[in-house]
Amino acid sequence: MRKFKTESKKLLDLMINSIYTNREIFLRELISNASDAVDKLYFRSLVDETVSINRADLAITVAFDGNGRTVTVSDNGIGMSKDDLDKNLGTIAHSDSFEFKADQAKNTPGEEKGLDDMTDVDIIGQFGVGFYSAFMVGKKVQVVSKAYGSDEGWMWESDGVDGYDLKPAQRETHGTDVIVYLKDNTDDESYDTFATEMGLKNLIKRYSNYVRYPIQMEVTKTRQIEAEEEGETPHWENYTEVETVNSMIPIWKRKGAEVSQEEYDEFYKTDFHDYEAPARTFSVHAEGALTYDALMFVPAHAAYDYYTRDFKKGLALYSANVLIMDKCEELLPDYFSFVRGVVDSADLTLNISRETLQHNSQLRAIARRLEKKIKADLVAYRTDDREGYEKFFENFGRNMKYGIYSSYGAAKGAVADLLLFYSAQQQKLVTLDEYLEAAPEGQNAIYYAVGSSLEHLAKMPIVTTVLAKGHDVLLCPDEVDEFCFMAMMDYNETPLKNVSSEDLGLTTEEEKKEAEEATEKNAGLFDAMTDALAGKVEKVVVSTRVSDAPAVLTCEGPVSLQMAATMKAQMG
Ligand code: ADP
Ligand code: MG
Repeated sequence: MRKFKTESKKLLDLMINSIYTNREIFLRELISNASDAVDKLYFRSLVDETVSINRADLAITVAFDGNGRTVTVSDNGIGMSKDDLDKNLGTIAHSDSFEFKADQAKNTPGEEKGLDDMTDVDIIGQFGVGFYSAFMVGKKVQVVSKAYGSDEGWMWESDGVDGYDLKPAQRETHGTDVIVYLKDNTDDESYDTFATEMGLKNLIKRYSNYVRYPIQMEVTKTRQIEAEEEGETPHWENYTEVETVNSMIPIWKRKGAEVSQEEYDEFYKTDFHDYEAPARTFSVHAEGALTYDALMFVPAHAAYDYYTRDFKKGLALYSANVLIMDKCEELLPDYFSFVRGVVDSADLTLNISRETLQHNSQLRAIARRLEKKIKADLVAYRTDDREGYEKFFENFGRNMKYGIYSSYGAAKGAVADLLLFYSAQQQKLVTLDEYLEAAPEGQNAIYYAVGSSLEHLAKMPIVTTVLAKGHDVLLCPDEVDEFCFMAMMDYNETPLKNVSSEDLGLTTEEEKKEAEEATEKNAGLFDAMTDALAGKVEKVVVSTRVSDAPAVLTCEGPVSLQMAATMKAQMG
């Protein structure tokens, strides 16, 4: 049998130009490698007494040269020997980090040696391709490295086309510098930001904010210099300072009991750009076939674009502390689209570019569990803080009702019991369960009325009639209410009935007969009225449905007057 030969030139080209949709992720990949290198050295120090490393000294540095158009990512991690450079960077799709992680999982030396900080090692690499993303933005990449414990440094250099060179190089201590020489003459404006302080800081914050080692950058700051002598005015001066750009601590990985609400609020406000602290905060820490951590929030108010087409639902998805997706839609059902938050799992099978997932079944499993958690929290909210819940409902209730309507009722099992409606009898918001609990014996329907406002609805003749007969009516001034109820049809098998469009079965046969007779007797009058209102009404009859009002406008068939008006408005 013949061996396949790799056309590495083609493969590299494919790698560089086809797998990523987003050039800027090169920085995420280089930082992830630096983090892995530092993690590996830290791990060595845990299992090998001769390696003495202070965790606090381990760091990643990002530097740039605006004129020379270079970006450098350095680490003081494990470093690479000449052989390592050859093997790890000379072979596409060879991941030493993946092997390292596999070994680590197999040997679990942590337990044997009684170490509990093994969970502190969190290797990101897996496919052995991330490094090559540097060639998406770089015309040349140099890697200067010195392996821990060795005294010779080596440089790997390549233009990403023909091959690479390896030559001796100087480096003070163990670790690696990856120097990317940015391409020139590109139309892509993002290149102009890659070698700037702001541009790099933004990318670090966006993708690598929770990498667990400090990512440091020399930043420029200004300070005011006080006047030393009289007559002089104070002036401003630029100076540079090394700053840690990432926040490092993934708050969602910490146990709820260890984190104060203030810390959660701060995290929420910063990461989700909200001026107000969240109304609810809750987390999930799942272990088993799929291990993940999730932290979720219910905002205290709807985002300005929440009820527009521009709004995108979703939770941020992280894998091993590195951002994969800002808004992973699959993690939230439409009716809970207001929830913000983060899911982090090292177990996700990512696709090779680490931009999406291979298996949606993993997402679906997580989403199912999160949905249960959201539901449970909202129920607890309603029970523990009714006032707060009513405010929440004012913000997001419409969305849950819309969720039922847009799923043709399929979502009712998930959210119908969370809905609130205004009770005409109790003069406050009630759940459907509360409505039924208060209903008189024998009432086997939920009555509702739709209209433009609560005041208007409360005065509707048909509403006062039903109330007078001892039945409560839910007053629904929200346009979506009727659509929601039509889609639901029933609530736990109790039918939902619109008081103005259905025969409610509240009149006796005798009353009906009387009305029919009265209609017949006065046929002349009603015909004259129908003629006078031609084009506006279909017929005029005596009704059993009014108690204290002289007349009522109603319609037959499935579409109520209110719904007809809404549809007409929508069709323009
Ligand atoms: P992956 O990170 O998925 O393994 P990469 O293409 O990003 O794939 O990197 C390939 C390999 O190169 C890594 O597995 C690692 O062994 C080595 N490597 C890359 N960057 C560094 C670094 N900064 N320090 C030490 N080793 C590195
Ligand atoms: Mg990598």
